[in-house]
Amino acid sequence: MVRMLLVGPPGAGKGTQAVLLSEAFGIPAISTGDIFRANVRDETPLGVEAKSFMDRGEYVPDSLTNALVADRLSHADCERGFLLDGYPRTLDQVRALDEVLAAQGNHLDIVVELTADPEIVIERIRLRANSQGRTDDTDDVLRNRLSVYTRETAPLIDVYGGRGILVSVDGIGAIDDVTGRIMESMSAHGFSA
Ligand code: AMP
Repeated sequence: MVRMLLVGPPGAGKGTQAVLLSEAFGIPAISTGDIFRANVRDETPLGVEAKSFMDRGEYVPDSLTNALVADRLSHADCERGFLLDGYPRTLDQVRALDEVLAAQGNHLDIVVELTADPEIVIERIRLRANSQGRTDDTDDVLRNRLSVYTRETAPLIDVYGGRGILVSVDGIGAIDDVTGRIMESMSAHGFSA
């Protein structure tokens, strides 16, 4: 049972690791990016609203994102823990998540930061753009996403570090090696799959 989140720049491998960790721990992986993309694909009102932000590499407004996650965390499958991938990404989202969890008498157990050199991130995303055809993986949009990350999301690292629940893991290397590093760091904090 663990309530955790994965944080790191675009291209650090959060999505890949989220799937593997959610299987290992038997908890749902909740990716706000995936939820937004599904809504864009289905042309829901949320998708129509989110698309313009996503296509520019900007964050979807906190009000929309917070409501989406609060709803998702109220589902029964989150009672035994969850892995958040790509949320929170702003200080307002940190506050909103704290409130949702506190209302349930819960709190975050651990935050895993995946670190990655920007040069390697850019190369990885170029490959992903070819294979997955994401409309926000072009060079211009990517550059904006990296700068939005530095401005809006990097400050969260200090917040969670201050709470003593942050572990930083090198995100570069073979997928299984990175998973192994994450598992080791989590186990040092008392969370084993
Ligand atoms: P991702 O797949 O996590 O890289 O997310 C893709 C895009 O979805 C981001 O560039 C944002 O436009 C949007 N998005 C995903 N998660 C969030 C979030 N927590 N807050 C705001 N926007 C988000």
